[in-house]
Amino acid sequence: MAKAPDFEVQDIGDYLVTPPVMPDSMAHSQPFVAKKEHQEALGFPGELIDNWQEVAVAKLGELTKKYRGLQVYLDSCVKCGACTDKCHYFLGTGDPKNMPVARQDLLRKVYRRYYTLPGKYFPKLVGAEDLTEEVLDDWYKYYHQCSQCRRCSVYCPYGIDTAEVSMAAREIMDTVGKGQKYCNEIIGKVHTLGNNLGLPEKALAHTLEGLEEDVLEDDGVAVKFPLDVKGADVLLVTPSADFFAEPHIDGLIGYAKVFHQAGLSWTVSSHASEAANFGLFIGSYENMQKVALRIREAALELGVKRIVFGECGHAWRVGYSFLNTLAGPFDFLDSNYPVPQHIIEVTHDLLKQGRIKLDPEANDDKRVTFHDSCNVARASRMGSKAGGQFVLPREVIKAACNNFFDMRSDTIEEATFCCGGGGGLLTDDLIELRTKGALPRMQALKEVSDQHQITHMAAICAICKSQFSKVLPYYGFEMDQIISVHQLVGDALVMNTEH
Ligand code: SF4
Ligand code: SF4
Repeated sequence: MAKAPDFEVQDIGDYLVTPPVMPDSMAHSQPFVAKKEHQEALGFPGELIDNWQEVAVAKLGELTKKYRGLQVYLDSCVKCGACTDKCHYFLGTGDPKNMPVARQDLLRKVYRRYYTLPGKYFPKLVGAEDLTEEVLDDWYKYYHQCSQCRRCSVYCPYGIDTAEVSMAAREIMDTVGKGQKYCNEIIGKVHTLGNNLGLPEKALAHTLEGLEEDVLEDDGVAVKFPLDVKGADVLLVTPSADFFAEPHIDGLIGYAKVFHQAGLSWTVSSHASEAANFGLFIGSYENMQKVALRIREAALELGVKRIVFGECGHAWRVGYSFLNTLAGPFDFLDSNYPVPQHIIEVTHDLLKQGRIKLDPEANDDKRVTFHDSCNVARASRMGSKAGGQFVLPREVIKAACNNFFDMRSDTIEEATFCCGGGGGLLTDDLIELRTKGALPRMQALKEVSDQHQITHMAAICAICKSQFSKVLPYYGFEMDQIISVHQLVGDALVMNTEH
């Protein structure tokens, strides 16, 4: 039974009714500010520096030069309004500052004031404003009410990407000493221990051994969960939530069974025991690179031939879109495989080649829908064809399960709604925002559940899984209705006990 929240959870209501505008309704929502040690560990000032305005304005100028897309986004909005009702946080809260265009304007007005001629000479005429303490406060609140999901950019005729604006704002705030505790503390743990949880090597080894015993007991098959095995073919880089959290862990068991059944040698690395890369969320190239380099180091150290990513949305975005730039070249790996490869691609290929077999009847007790995770849907791809990131997971699910039903088309694939906890917001200090921001996804889930008696929603993102486990009960669902795609696969896999 979920604990009653100390805020009002809306009635699930009808899908996509634009809420009444409620100014400042989320002005009280902000995450804890990073402590001195968390800031300094990432190379940022420990607290707000004295000349923060000057440094912040200079950093904004530096970022618009470095990332030309950012400057284009700040220059090109025509205020057409197409994005205003596309953000789940606006739909769930009614706070007008959660309209994507208004969120962008918090940075845009400062950019105009200091970096455009009309803004310098006629600020009021062009909506330009000085960077004041009040503006900085708004930045901190509302750039931590954006999960960087990029849904708004799909509907913007100019393709303006609010996620990039939000990342830039967070980077500026880190630079002046006002970072977010949740993200920065976690990145620090990856730099020192290799994973978000701060799980040391011994504890990781112990966890993996425990999983071997569990699978042997449940299935009677000696599936291995290898750690730091030199010369293995595949390095599995997976979100550390897969090692202990529910429902993630059943996904990890599914990957291990697939590797076992296909006869692929694989290993986890204690040096790179994390696929997540929160450097993306805070817009810090340097931190993102430092995290990514651990994967390269582990691959070289272990002498693997392939790198495979587990089920994690933003990790896949960083892996698919940036890994080569951040930590490449990966010319020491087997060129017959993409670098990196997604576990869904691996399973899909093995199914196609007939190297593994699924019995979908094993999941006949389930009626399943699929939540497309934002960073997979809108910021990366899978397989060799456009749209593979939508097709491949669905083909794997359908091979594993006879009863699959999609949610309505304007809430899936490219138009998918964020779970409400992405972009570094999966922290209890933002639970009200997370719950309200989940509303559009919950409405679509309710609709498909009413039509098709859905029992489970599958996902391929660690953040989505954790977020849904928490917020599903607030909307009348059970927390265990969210499952890993590879749980379905693992349960349906026809195992050969002779391996
Ligand atoms: S990127 Fe997502 S969370 Fe951010 S403003 Fe756009 S729709 Fe909202
Ligand atoms: S859709 Fe694009 S151009 Fe239109 S208001 Fe939104 S950000 Fe500006």
